[in-house]
Amino acid sequence: MRSYIFASALLALAAGATLAQTPSMSQSGQASPVAQASAKPTPPPEVNSFDPAALDTSVDPCVDFYQYSCGNWLKNNSIPADQARWVRSFSLVQQRNLYLLWKDLDAASAHPKDALQKQYGDFFGSCMDTATIDKLGVQPIQPAWKQIADLKDTSGIPALMSKLENQGWPEGFFDFGVSQDELDSSKQIVEIAQGGISLPDRDYYIVDNPHFAEIRTQYLAHMKKMFTLAGDSPEQAQKEAAAVMEIETAMAKSFLSRTDLRDPQKVYHIYSVTDLQKLTPNYDWHAYISSFPLDHFDSLNVATPEYFKTFNDMLKSVPLDSWKSYVRWQILHGQASRLAKPIYDENFDFFSRALAGQKEPMPRWRQCTAATDRALGEAVGQDWVKENFPPAAKESMDKLIANLEKSLGQDIQMLPWMSDETKKAAAEKLAMFRQKIGYPEKWRDYSSIKVDRGQYVTNNQHVAVYDRNYDFAKLGKPVDEKEWHMTPPTVNAYYSPTFNDINFPAGVLQPPFFDFKTDPAVNYGGIGVVIGHEMTHGFDDQGAQFDGKGNLRQWQTDADLKAFHERTECVADEYSGFEAAPAEGNSPAVNLNGHLTLGENTADNGGLRIAYMALLDALQEQGKTIDEKIGGYTEAQRYFIGFAQVWCQNSHDAYNRQAALSDPHSPGKWRVNGTVQNFDEFGKAFSCKKGQPMYPQNSCRVW
Ligand SMILES: [Zn+2]
Repeated sequence: MRSYIFASALLALAAGATLAQTPSMSQSGQASPVAQASAKPTPPPEVNSFDPAALDTSVDPCVDFYQYSCGNWLKNNSIPADQARWVRSFSLVQQRNLYLLWKDLDAASAHPKDALQKQYGDFFGSCMDTATIDKLGVQPIQPAWKQIADLKDTSGIPALMSKLENQGWPEGFFDFGVSQDELDSSKQIVEIAQGGISLPDRDYYIVDNPHFAEIRTQYLAHMKKMFTLAGDSPEQAQKEAAAVMEIETAMAKSFLSRTDLRDPQKVYHIYSVTDLQKLTPNYDWHAYISSFPLDHFDSLNVATPEYFKTFNDMLKSVPLDSWKSYVRWQILHGQASRLAKPIYDENFDFFSRALAGQKEPMPRWRQCTAATDRALGEAVGQDWVKENFPPAAKESMDKLIANLEKSLGQDIQMLPWMSDETKKAAAEKLAMFRQKIGYPEKWRDYSSIKVDRGQYVTNNQHVAVYDRNYDFAKLGKPVDEKEWHMTPPTVNAYYSPTFNDINFPAGVLQPPFFDFKTDPAVNYGGIGVVIGHEMTHGFDDQGAQFDGKGNLRQWQTDADLKAFHERTECVADEYSGFEAAPAEGNSPAVNLNGHLTLGENTADNGGLRIAYMALLDALQEQGKTIDEKIGGYTEAQRYFIGFAQVWCQNSHDAYNRQAALSDPHSPGKWRVNGTVQNFDEFGKAFSCKKGQPMYPQNSCRVW
């Protein structure tokens, strides 16, 4: 799982819940809130690849292309009450995939045809069974709380955490797992990294302004209410909330920022186990590790040593009772969305409503479908791809990827700022790209996961143990190049720098991204840009630090690396000037963080350029030109509009504020306007005048 730490996805998929809560994407046991409300599932509408009705033609495309392409859609598609963000392409396709998946799950839950269907049908059924969930109350977490109550001394914490994690309760104070060695990606090593805070980012604890002060006050009240709902007295709950806040704040203060976590150089520190013990004398690592089903190891990557120093000091200074409150909170918060309605509702109120602006929970069936996909994705996906992923789609993708690779290769050769030596090295890395399309060649075997119809929390514990052991089993073994980090119905894509591969789940390979029925211009603006985006990740500020084998190694000359950084800084400055959310009440206006979003923005810009080049080739092959008109628009215009309409997005300001801090992707508006203004072919396509906002005199270009 942890080799995924640097993987760059196409977008952060926040299914109406909070965004990924921790930098490593894999550490939190917290699922998205599951709704208690129920509504009859209905088939969602098809999404058009190119929709003239979405345009706002009263807007000049050369002034604000996003508004031009999406204006009418934005006006006519308010955010559904059960969402925090509503993206024309992703959200609608996701709803469609979830609906199709739900049909399988619902049928398997009632009449399973084989053992696999019985397993995922029962898992889904246990999630849907709110009567049992409500009846059980907090009973499912009592065994964990009992073990915490029995803790006699802080020196017993490592053994306690070990025991809880072996039972499938979420990791507490930090991330612990197996990942590829950055310097030698063929090796799998143990890695530990900062973790253990519940708010979406360290800034929520440490930034001193009225906006965050108010959220901290709300968070304290939320914790107090949660402890009370779980049976503690109000006085005790108040004390516990304060203790958790103090611990999480001290942790957050020693956290690396999300921007620093993106830099592989800053999170690579090989320690011997002996030296780790010297770094943290107050934490008995042997007591923590020895009960894990994990082969012996002598050294590991301590990604964030500063955090572990602080954690070590805290083990001495923080009283035992405070630690107990903290670990109790980890369990309660981690399972909140799977517990009885009062706890579920309170968790939703704070994390989804207050922090992200979502008005109401998603219907239960949709949440349980997503939860089953998260838990048993490679079981659920087997039937789903049979029904929803035609083999022809894979063939078309192979061809498109080959075309895009050719364009990127040509683009690299034409770069004015790069020496021949570095161009050769870049071409070598490109030639070593691998690709995965649709779904895994070999499915994971989940047969050891015990699923019980009436035990939703316990089922999730079993899944957590399975996932962790799957991860642990990688230690010392060859890397499995065929492994996937997304499930088949996922509407997303990713590049992994340590695998040096691009990955496209079946879920994204359909309209409006990919449509057999539409013209090439629109397909290249959709899936073409998506492919180009993922390929460019191999050469963004993070990906470019790895070579073709996936090893952290400088393959550029020093001069070229310097020129590269000057160019990426141009992009970082550009996007830092874009507003993510306006000032409101005591919340100041927030701009994007140009360095947090640098990799994604670089990928967006590269993707738009090389997909365009590939389109030119495709049209030439068909004897057509880019100026030919279809339905009143030139091929070039259709390409850019098709691209922009992927990103039409309505979202709550609360969501936008959180995303500006924690999401490495820019919001739709800037994914469109930020990129087209860096690409002169756009200005030409719409006959803009040089100097207009979307066709500026000076622009940024990396690839
Ligand atoms: Zn990306």
